[in-house]
Amino acid sequence: MKNLIDKAFYTHNLSYEELIYLIKDEQFNEYLYSKADETRKIFVGDEIHLRGLIEFSNICKNNCQYCGLQKNNHKIDRYKMSIDEIYQTAKQAVIMGYKTIVLQSGESEVYSVDELCKIIRKIKLLNVAITLSIGEKNSDEYKELKEAGADRFLLRIETTSPKLYKALHPSMSLSKRMACLHYLKKIGFETGTGNLIGLPNQTDESIANDILFFKELDADMVGLGPFIPHNDTPLGNYKGGTFEKALKVMAITRLLMPNINIPATTAMETLNPNGRIIALQSGANVVMPNVNETKYRSKYEIYPNKICINDNPDKCRNCIEAKIKSIGRTISQTKGFRLHK
Ligand code: SAH
Repeated sequence: MKNLIDKAFYTHNLSYEELIYLIKDEQFNEYLYSKADETRKIFVGDEIHLRGLIEFSNICKNNCQYCGLQKNNHKIDRYKMSIDEIYQTAKQAVIMGYKTIVLQSGESEVYSVDELCKIIRKIKLLNVAITLSIGEKNSDEYKELKEAGADRFLLRIETTSPKLYKALHPSMSLSKRMACLHYLKKIGFETGTGNLIGLPNQTDESIANDILFFKELDADMVGLGPFIPHNDTPLGNYKGGTFEKALKVMAITRLLMPNINIPATTAMETLNPNGRIIALQSGANVVMPNVNETKYRSKYEIYPNKICINDNPDKCRNCIEAKIKSIGRTISQTKGFRLHK
């Protein structure tokens, strides 16, 4: 097993069979994490990129079975921030020092593409990078958003298992999502993807395929996290994923994709109070603190017990800065694009 981890460390390649073997192993986790951390240090350095996350609307037309924002959840209080509110939130985040603004929402047409372009153009004047995480759009729309100035797009594939994808995403299609990702890449977005770990009936074989997909796409960013069951969804009674397994898949991804950006995700911290710091020491180099006003935070409940829902943007910034400094790492002052080294 050690040889296999060393092979991944030196060659950044593993076969499907080798990946499964490594995912299933329980003995060499610590060695895996240390080699992923070493890879992170060599290829992307000690700087951590902070991305200010604005969850600007929880309105959604889809029914992703695991997600608390799904259309069929009638218990949540739906909101949409106005263009000015989004802009003011972004502006505050820039004042706090963020160099990237991530605009995330449920999937809907409550904002026209023109309106989204308007927000993008306005925020771009603040001299920051913009990441969109707003789901599937058609090619022309993606192009317009790119032309308006958006730099990156985050669209998790969630799972590459056709059977699982179908069961979890009624009225959506795996091939369409893959096509969106290839198109985003083609038109020049820095493209982020990722998956959920611990979905009902997910196999290690399908997780191995997910990792091979990230590599085949040549994703610029991979964000993954444990599935956390939400009571107001059809999957409320399932077990969910573990922090350890998500951490492991993340570390393997770092070994195979040494120069990409990998966030220490909020879902990891939800399952482990020190989850983001552990992730940053096991291959991750990005954190996406929430910059929303407190009043919206509890409404963007994709899964329960999300961290920081009673906090404000200043508190989140100070808290993560202190944690980052405590492990001897620094906060990047750049926009943090993927380094092609
Ligand atoms: N509508 C956008 C953003 C989705 S929310 C899109 O379609 O891309 C961002 C991510 O939250 C999702 O990609 C999903 O991986 C994650 N997520 C949703 N429900 C979750 C749950 N119950 N547990 C953990 N993560 C979840």
